[in-house]
Amino acid sequence: MASRTGTDADGDVDGADGEVVRVEATVEQVLNGVRVGLDGASGVCAYCGRELHDGDCVTVYAYRKAGHDTWNCPRVYCRDCRSGDGVSTPTLGTTEVTATAFLGVMQVAAQTTRLALTNVELESYSRPSDGSEGG
Ligand SMILES: [Zn+2]
Repeated sequence: MASRTGTDADGDVDGADGEVVRVEATVEQVLNGVRVGLDGASGVCAYCGRELHDGDCVTVYAYRKAGHDTWNCPRVYCRDCRSGDGVSTPTLGTTEVTATAFLGVMQVAAQTTRLALTNVELESYSRPSDGSEGG
C-alpha cells in the first residue's frame, strides 16, 4: 500500500487568525541571519545585477518547504527594483514571504564573511495552504 496522503484534520485549523500573527513574528526572527547571495561579503540584485553590500536596504523573497526548517533566500532585490507586489504566485506546500531587510556581514570563519539578513520586516506571507489547488 502506498503511504497515506488523505486529509488530516489535525493540521487544518480554521479561523485561527491569531496564529498567523505569531507565525509572522517567528518568521522575522528566523530570517534574521539567513545567508544571502554567494560566498563573500557582497551580493547582487536579482533584477538589475547591481552589487549589494553591507548596510544596503533590500527586499527579499524567501521560502521554506513544508516539513523543512531551512529557509532559502534565492532572490534579493535592491531598493530600486523592489516590486512591492508581494508573493504573486503562491506555491502550494511552501511557505513564502517577501520582506524588507538590511544586509549585514556575518563572519562564519576567521577569513570568511557572508552577507546575511538583518532587521527583517515581513511584507507578505503566504501559507503552505495558499496556492492554486485545482484552479
Ligand atoms: Zn536592482
